[in-house]
Amino acid sequence: MQYTSTRDSSLSVSSSFAIAHGISAEGGLFVPKEIPQIDRAWLKELCDKEYPARAEQVLSLFLTDFTSGELAEAAAAAYTDGVFEEDWAAPLSDLSDGRFVLELWHGPTCAFKDMALQLLPHLMVSAARRALDGKQILILVATSGDTGKAALEGFCGVEGVKIAVFYPNDGVSPMQQLQMVTQRGENVAVYAIEGNFDNAQTEVKKIFTDPGVIARLAERGTVLSSANSINWGRLVPQIVYYFSAYADLVGCECIKLGDPVNFVVPTGNFGNILAGYYAKRMGLPVGKLICASNQNDVLADFMKSGVYDANRNFYTTMSPSMDILISSNLERLLYELCGKDDRQVAAMMEELKENRRYSIPPEMKARLDADFWGGTVGDEVCRGIIKKTLDEIGYLIDPHTSVAFGVYDQYKAETGDQTPAVILSTASPFKFAGSVLGALGAERPADEFAAVKALSQGTGAPIPENIAALEKAKIRFTKVLLPEEMPREIELFASQK
Ligand SMILES: *Cc1c(COP(=O)(O)O)cnc(C)c1O
Repeated sequence: MQYTSTRDSSLSVSSSFAIAHGISAEGGLFVPKEIPQIDRAWLKELCDKEYPARAEQVLSLFLTDFTSGELAEAAAAAYTDGVFEEDWAAPLSDLSDGRFVLELWHGPTCAFKDMALQLLPHLMVSAARRALDGKQILILVATSGDTGKAALEGFCGVEGVKIAVFYPNDGVSPMQQLQMVTQRGENVAVYAIEGNFDNAQTEVKKIFTDPGVIARLAERGTVLSSANSINWGRLVPQIVYYFSAYADLVGCECIKLGDPVNFVVPTGNFGNILAGYYAKRMGLPVGKLICASNQNDVLADFMKSGVYDANRNFYTTMSPSMDILISSNLERLLYELCGKDDRQVAAMMEELKENRRYSIPPEMKARLDADFWGGTVGDEVCRGIIKKTLDEIGYLIDPHTSVAFGVYDQYKAETGDQTPAVILSTASPFKFAGSVLGALGAERPADEFAAVKALSQGTGAPIPENIAALEKAKIRFTKVLLPEEMPREIELFASQK
């Protein structure tokens, strides 16, 4: 299978190339030229497998220049017992009312980004061997919280790779900061940046295209790459758990093979839900993909009106990983909706850059409506749902998952659709213990670990080991940089043994 760019269909590259480089040179995103198709027998086969083997079966359809040995080893290493707290990487909980929760947060950083970032490093190493002649890779990540830690955990100790993470000094939660500055491993570096996330992100993007930096790194045999969510290598592992959830529903006889299922996804950068769209296009029996937004409701409005308009207030909410106004991965959906017209996509992205706004024509809107439904829930409702879900069914959820619960309620009320629904749960409630305690009406201690313990005592839910261990972890990284100091630090880090 070959890949092309959303903004230049004349390109044709391998999956190794797409993963090793991350983004296409003209700014477009890599997409598969054709979406592979599955049939009933293929799905039946998947149902009988364990999670790593399911991953291999899905990955092999997209990553055709990887050997089956590479994919099997990568999946086995990523989704094992020692990495994920459960013996099943993505367990499904039956709420016994037509709703099922797909828990994607049992990995090392307690958020769903582990599902992709535990696998990506293995893919990256094989891809680099083929597409970069085995040069040393230096991964740069600008993060607003969850991605940085998940990437650090994923790439920690990986041979031939170094990773540098930059986070805004005052822009991440105390737990997220602690997770990053205590990171173990010799091939990692973590820096706080004076400024906000945009400043860090802008400087990283500048470095990627700085000829001086690139040339000096090349002299040392080092190539820059990225681990952010537009890398195809982060998207394809996410397709796996849609299939796996479906297989589990068949396995528990909650549905019959071939029955449709809806998926509800708490959405920010549109990476998670886009993986569900690819699963549907491959032939997985999916009804609607329900896109859940918090108060930053640019996507919900787009789903309703066909107008993407980022000219609006930015809100800081209790579901910070969804606080985003420009959803990068939407570009890949636009490409499919307009019939793979690279020029139309490039024009819309140009408009977005110029005016922070674009609209799609009626044919595209009709295709969008066929697969998607969007809704939005504010913090007040979100808090109420956390409390109600614990009180009524004894199930504890984090604020991001709560947004999805709320939007699903709206969807059902508006459409009356009785199709079984899988709600994707994207973070452990203990990662946001303070806000969850607040939602439950309990006293909220100033100290984050006191909040974690109080939440566990109040609800009986166990504290994830990775969060408990942080309290005693040693702080290793204390450097604070101005954005303009980043290139020099990166070269220094690259030159260390
Ligand atoms: C990143 C993240 C999201 C948003 O996922 P996208 O793929 O960016 O849409 C939702 N919840 C949590 C907890 C996250 O970390």
